[in-house]
Amino acid sequence: MQKNTEYIGYNSFFTKKDRNKTILIPWFTDFLSPFIPAVAKLAGYNFVNCPRTSKTSADIGLQYGNNEVCYPATLILGDLIAEIQSGKYDIDNLAVAITQTGGQCRATNYLGMIKSGLKNAGFGQIPTIAVSLGGNVYQNEQEGFELPVLKIFNIGMNALLFGDALNQMFASAVVRENVGAGRALPLQTHAAFLFDFYMKKGEEIILQNKPKEFYKLLKNAVDDFNKIVDCSGAINRAPTEKIGLIGEIFVKYNSYGQAHITEWLQGKGMEVLTPPIIDFFVQSFVNQKINQQNGIKRATFSTKILTPLLLKFAEKRVGKFDKIAEKYRFYERNESIFTKAKYAAEIIDLSNQFGEGWMIAGEVASFAHRGINRVVCVQPFGCIANHIVAKGIERRLKEHYPAMNLLFLDIDGGMAEVNLHNRLEFLIR
Ligand code: SF4
Repeated sequence: MQKNTEYIGYNSFFTKKDRNKTILIPWFTDFLSPFIPAVAKLAGYNFVNCPRTSKTSADIGLQYGNNEVCYPATLILGDLIAEIQSGKYDIDNLAVAITQTGGQCRATNYLGMIKSGLKNAGFGQIPTIAVSLGGNVYQNEQEGFELPVLKIFNIGMNALLFGDALNQMFASAVVRENVGAGRALPLQTHAAFLFDFYMKKGEEIILQNKPKEFYKLLKNAVDDFNKIVDCSGAINRAPTEKIGLIGEIFVKYNSYGQAHITEWLQGKGMEVLTPPIIDFFVQSFVNQKINQQNGIKRATFSTKILTPLLLKFAEKRVGKFDKIAEKYRFYERNESIFTKAKYAAEIIDLSNQFGEGWMIAGEVASFAHRGINRVVCVQPFGCIANHIVAKGIERRLKEHYPAMNLLFLDIDGGMAEVNLHNRLEFLIR
């Protein structure tokens, strides 16, 4: 009979003497990930992005992870281990970090899974960090890491809003450019060049910690994106067919995570609209109110006084960026989170806040109200949360919006892309 052996947990902690270590982070998305190391530098940490997620990430994530976790968890683990195995880093001078939002889904278990994956891969000496805005570090021992929220909040928020605006301009310009030129993606287009150029400029502004410079930068970007439209003989100025892309946050925004379906759709001449990432953060204003009404959270002095102030600040800031971005010829106004919540409440109770929660319903409804009646919703393999709040409300969505064509796609590492494309083909024809 096998003897019980003592369980030995992960005992590599990020201590104060580790502060100067290189901190590896998984790739998230093209319009945000390049800004993260620059913001971290202001906070006094040396963050380094893993390369863009790839098939190698999926294979290695499956090898060292647990095959019952959701697909984004597999990819994140694979990103980190593949990069550590690349031999580029001094292991004794390395740590890894991931963000933690504290959602009610498996996201809260990522850190434990990463620790066991690192151990399995022979890297158990690498400390791990949970990065969280709220200061709650989810029972991770990391006394050497503290996020100076006040110091980076202003620049971080402007970087995020700038990334959202740039991403929207890129998505509408790239498809018009290619359709006009009669060619399929991917190619190095003017739009792609401008996107990269302005992301680099954004990094420079962050490193200088000059949040207001982002307004000027966005204005220049708008002018340049408008020039592609005005000057290029190859541009298609006619309205394009629009399609909404929503779903779980990682697979929606990560190109490999969503099996490159955005590029595939753009190659077919479709303008792919994804909701801005700012919505993911500001939904907490709605959630907080609902949780208080439901008796789950107490109204405290801080929620009574600080939350309205914070909301006012956020609305003002979003309005400032919108005012500049709306000069772009193909600007698409995003409805406010409160409008989306109002739409969502007709479909699903707003206390559904796990995974993407009620936002799926709100986003589908918002597209319908804007006359966009084709929406793809991507869900990762193993994501029970989003299966419930997305596919689970399909019938109700169809009852409310009968003209809406909804396609729910499950994404995982072993799927055949041809099947995805077949189903998308039916949606866009
Ligand atoms: S929402 Fe789904 S895919 Fe995303 S972390 Fe939670 S369980 Fe995983």
